[in-house]
Amino acid sequence: MIQGYKYEIKVNNKQRSALQVCAEINDTVYNMTIRAIYDRFDANTENRFWKLNELQGEWRKTRDANPRLKSMCEGVPSMVANFACLRADQAYKRWWKKKAKKPREKKRRGSKFTIYRPDYGKNWIKIPKVGIVKAKEKIRFEGEVGSVAFSKRAGRWWASFSVDTEKDIKESNGGVVGIDWGLNAFVTLSTGEKVEAPKPYAKELKRLKRLQRQYSRKQKGSKNQKKLNAVIAKTHFKVAEIRKDFINKLSKRLTKEYGAIGIENLNMAGMIKNRHLSKAIQDAGAGEFFRQLKYKAEWYGCEIVEADRWYPSSQTCSDCGLILSGDQKLQLNQRTFLCPGCGFECDRDVNAAKNLENLIVDRERFSRIDAPEESPSRATSEDCDVVERPRGTGKQVALFSA
Ligand SMILES: [Zn+2]
Repeated sequence: MIQGYKYEIKVNNKQRSALQVCAEINDTVYNMTIRAIYDRFDANTENRFWKLNELQGEWRKTRDANPRLKSMCEGVPSMVANFACLRADQAYKRWWKKKAKKPREKKRRGSKFTIYRPDYGKNWIKIPKVGIVKAKEKIRFEGEVGSVAFSKRAGRWWASFSVDTEKDIKESNGGVVGIDWGLNAFVTLSTGEKVEAPKPYAKELKRLKRLQRQYSRKQKGSKNQKKLNAVIAKTHFKVAEIRKDFINKLSKRLTKEYGAIGIENLNMAGMIKNRHLSKAIQDAGAGEFFRQLKYKAEWYGCEIVEADRWYPSSQTCSDCGLILSGDQKLQLNQRTFLCPGCGFECDRDVNAAKNLENLIVDRERFSRIDAPEESPSRATSEDCDVVERPRGTGKQVALFSA
């Protein structure tokens, strides 16, 4: 069940004006999105409907073309605008499904905005780009936080947590994670953790490569080559055994620990990164890893969400959603992702993993719109964003499919 928990927060003057700007951006984006939706609909062309990511892209274009908006947004988490687009889109869809009145533009009040899953503690909440705000009482509830809406009334600010009370965060099988299979670490998690292949594996692998080089230099069909062949076969076996054990444990750990895991498209995982021939053997490990991840997910009730094959997980800013193109593109040797749009800086693999986590987060937002049995109280709840995650089914869902 989704429940709301509301706390008054203490803000200093600087934070007060920062929150005000967030709320104004929220309304600006909401109104702009509503207008964009109606304009396109009224134009009565073949393509009457926007996709949510198109709407969000439109907003970013408008913002970048407008210096005043751009400088305002410097202190506003990008989630605020994304949520405003989502809200407008949802309001419109509810009207379209005859579940609610036609949404209208908000009169500019600047009194509310929402962010997704902020860090929080006993009596504090961290709002990206604004900083830490203190709550006037202890923040206490059991469950998993979806989103937090900040609202102003009579000059005072409140934070409303939307909490899934059926999900105990202490339970292992709850969280969402994205994993990037990479050139450096074996996998990188969106939590920032890098899981390396075991040391003996790397050692044996190195040895195997050396042996293979030697093999190619030996005279074809010679006694020496045959001898070497036996050694290679043995090393191969050793490598495979270590890998099997490692993959087994890792896939088990991840599927038990998380309720949903976002991964790359498996074809791409194999193909794009396979340019380095020396990695071919390790690539085989990736294939096996993902295969095990999938069937163990079914055992443990974890859901695997696979990205569409063209999803640019390494070229997208996990913070603001900007997709790098042209010569902005991140090269293979660049270890750090630096977003030219919002200035977000992050290890490249962690950024990719975060994007894969975002697949699930975004999907939840979509599924909420399309949820048929949405109760009216939820649908019209202004105080809380309800972000629902279906319980792990082990099913795979392709996203961003063409
Ligand atoms: Zn960015």
